[in-house]
Amino acid sequence: MPNETPEVRWEYLFPKEFEVAVAQCPVCYMPLGTLERHGAHLPFGQDAMKAHGLCVRAAQKHGGIVLPPLHWGTHGWWAEDYRRGDDSEWPAAKQPPGSVYIHEGLLINLLLSMFREVEYAGFKVIVALTGHYPGQQAQAVNNAATQYMCDSPVKVWALYEPEVSGEVEVGADHAGKWETSIFWALYPDLVKMDRCPDPDTGLFTWCDETALESSPELGREVVEYVADQLGQEAGRLLAAYDPQVAQGTK
Ligand SMILES: [Zn+2]
Repeated sequence: MPNETPEVRWEYLFPKEFEVAVAQCPVCYMPLGTLERHGAHLPFGQDAMKAHGLCVRAAQKHGGIVLPPLHWGTHGWWAEDYRRGDDSEWPAAKQPPGSVYIHEGLLINLLLSMFREVEYAGFKVIVALTGHYPGQQAQAVNNAATQYMCDSPVKVWALYEPEVSGEVEVGADHAGKWETSIFWALYPDLVKMDRCPDPDTGLFTWCDETALESSPELGREVVEYVADQLGQEAGRLLAAYDPQVAQGTK
């Protein structure tokens, strides 16, 4: 690691460096995801690790501190049946063990407690980036952010990375071209394209066939673009922070 790259991961910081970093840029990045199958070519932690890598890059370039990735996410309460393969509506969706989902209400409560602790630590902006995209997860993060801001001046920006698509397209897929490319750029040793499709079955199970179009070059372009979008918007939110005004009153 080059010396000029600042340490931005909260768990690696010492008190002195933490105080300096918060004073310079009180933006906290909160990478979210779950443990979930992403084909045979990506690890279970893909979603939260992808979000963490994007947040680290944003903080390195634009300031702020990054929480450890949260690998507990939701797929809605129906996931209880879904993952056990009991849902006759989704016979092809039977998941073998390894994916984990918690109730969305539990996730919202957890996030509310996390926001409170982050605010107490001195942060004024929270970027809650979920690398796990189902509507239930995105809505839970959004709901928690909206609820928290009702009586707090802290600005919580809840999003998933395709929402910052602009000059560079950032698509949403499941272990397809976009997720695989981003992950490949961030964790080159953890992408096993020789397992795509699954050599045991010849099938693209729990992943999109577009994974074959992915590349680390595309991933690097997306990572830098998303990192800049995150950092710049966080800066705008910080500039608009007013300790007297709870966000929910606007
Ligand atoms: Zn994913």
